Amino acid sequence: MATHRGSCLCGEVVYEIDGPLQHTHHCHCQYCRKSHGTQCATGSLAASAGRRWLRGESSIVRYESSPGFHRWFCVRCGSPLPGDDIGGLLFVPLGNLDGDPGVRPAFHMFAKAKAPWWEIRDALPAFDGFPPGVDASDAPDLESQRISKHHGQHGSDCQYGRELEPAAPQSPAGQMGLSRRVGLAGQGCQVGRADGAR
Ligand SMILES: [Zn+2]
Ligand SMILES: [Zn+2]
Repeated sequence: MATHRGSCLCGEVVYEIDGPLQHTHHCHCQYCRKSHGTQCATGSLAASAGRRWLRGESSIVRYESSPGFHRWFCVRCGSPLPGDDIGGLLFVPLGNLDGDPGVRPAFHMFAKAKAPWWEIRDALPAFDGFPPGVDASDAPDLESQRISKHHGQHGSDCQYGRELEPAAPQSPAGQMGLSRRVGLAGQGCQVGRADGAR
């Protein structure tokens, strides 16, 4: 069984995902764009049961971006992390993963909600909302779960995020990740040197 290792920017939170990454996609909904700060969120779905926190679990904060659905972040550096379970699956931000996960995006979703400053120029299928077929209410896959929960609440975005929960206490650990990485690798862009990390 494939195991994928992921981590946040500062290195505080490290996790593994066992099992296949499926339904790799770009989501252009406004929730994803806001929370990732990018033109879309790119990720895969994986079995929730296969997620294992190797460290930093106490440094995870959860933001309820839509009723009952939380987006998870590192409290120190703000990186999105695999979050709430939806029907046994969770969203894995591909940018977290170390190395090549061996999967490639297969489609765009919520293309209708995309940023006006971004054009989709690849040949992948681009759907206005979730891919066709997932809104069958009895379909057993993840997207149908998302849709049914999701469309009951706010119909035009995928299932992510709403009110801020109290942040977990700042962990004293984890002064290492970014400073090490900046010092050693020096190959990332300079955006986001966390305070104290030098
Ligand atoms: Zn972090
Ligand atoms: Zn989305």
